[in-house]
Amino acid sequence: MTIEDIDKEFFFHPFTQLREHQRHGPLTMVEGHGSTLTDTRGRTYLDAMAGLWCVNIGYGNTEMAETLRAQTERLPYYHTFASMGNEPVARLAQRLIAMAPGEMSKVFFGNSGSDANDTQVKLVWYYNNVLGRPEKKKIISRSRGYHGVTVMSGSLCGLPGMHAGFDLPLPMVHFVRAPHRLWEQREGQSEEEFVRDLADELERLILAEGPETVAAFIAEPIQAAGGVIVPPTSYFPAIQEVLRRYDVLLIADEVVCGFGRTGDTFGSEVFGIRPDLITVAKGITSAYVPLSACIVSAPVWDVIASGADRYGVFSHGYTYSAHPLAAAAAMTNLDIIERDGLMRQAKARGDHLAERLRAEFADHPLVGEVRGYGLLGAVEFVRSKDPLTAFDPALKMSAAVVQRARELGVISRALPASDSISFSPPFVVTEDEIDEMAALARQALDDVARELRLLP
Ligand code: PLP
Repeated sequence: MTIEDIDKEFFFHPFTQLREHQRHGPLTMVEGHGSTLTDTRGRTYLDAMAGLWCVNIGYGNTEMAETLRAQTERLPYYHTFASMGNEPVARLAQRLIAMAPGEMSKVFFGNSGSDANDTQVKLVWYYNNVLGRPEKKKIISRSRGYHGVTVMSGSLCGLPGMHAGFDLPLPMVHFVRAPHRLWEQREGQSEEEFVRDLADELERLILAEGPETVAAFIAEPIQAAGGVIVPPTSYFPAIQEVLRRYDVLLIADEVVCGFGRTGDTFGSEVFGIRPDLITVAKGITSAYVPLSACIVSAPVWDVIASGADRYGVFSHGYTYSAHPLAAAAAMTNLDIIERDGLMRQAKARGDHLAERLRAEFADHPLVGEVRGYGLLGAVEFVRSKDPLTAFDPALKMSAAVVQRARELGVISRALPASDSISFSPPFVVTEDEIDEMAALARQALDDVARELRLLP
């Protein structure tokens, strides 16, 4: 049996068309170095996605290997329930508080972005229970948002595909529109009017639900999986003004943006976000080991800590919360990023990526928008620019382009919520590699357009 046969027989793949998988089987990677992956047949690919927006220091880092070996020998695991601690995690918590924007106080660790966002909602609920307002529990999220797959974090996603078949979203989750200029900004509407429109929509929703029932608003600084949607600079200040008026907490989901992807440490710094709670994962260890964290602001912490008087033990946590291997990996990952100036490099490479994507795609008749920020980019496909018309989703345009790009040796990712393909390479990507990623993605679009006879 080949590894592909074994995979098809036994492995239940996440986020996969299960019927098609049975027909086509997997693409199995065996090795990675820098931004390059190699599959079982020896074919190489440029990974324009750093895995799933996460292998920021690139594949095959030997310092990370050494850290993991040393920590495994010293202490591979010990739990952190009931006041137990370990060294790497205490130091990592201290470091995260020093790095985080605003007045942050404590760090709670988990294993994935999904469980961290789930924890955030539990923290918000606990906070309001301690404050004696048990009715203040609703969460507002945004269309196109991606926050994970647990029952709650999946509910927070503004992507219908995440709910279908799973009886989600839960009824306490409500949605407002994303700041996606291409589709949401009306013709003739200024940016200021557009932002006002979105902030008013949020305020109307809070008033309609009753401010005494609305607990928190969750948002990615840049919506990644929803289409790399970069908000106007005045967007978050306007949103926060509304949240403050109605005493609604803000959870910044920094799972993709955190630790340098925007060129700054956090997306919150770029977009003027002053979060009460911050979610991080992915880039905290460059995905070498699973780790996530909820960074909690001082005022929220103070309330939660006082809950001990009422509830006793804070009864939440995972066997793998604050895993010492993951914490050690995070420390080395952050050391590498700082020492090698990788955030600055992400910004510089991001500028190059933006320039190459614009050069290859901006004038293409089937491209509605080229957008991005830092080392994040996307190209959105449209059937027509004037009048602006989306492709029929059944055509699966972005998926077809990604499939063709993969055949050409570049791994991008289709973001069907906005019919886009995305670029989020490792921070160590070279300019030549970016040139190749953009050129091959363009060739993929042209090949698909020709095959489907989309152009005259
Ligand atoms: N939040 C954001 C913004 C994400 O992009 C993701 C994953 O892509 C998650 C949360 C969920 O993280 P995980 O897949 O580690 O559960």
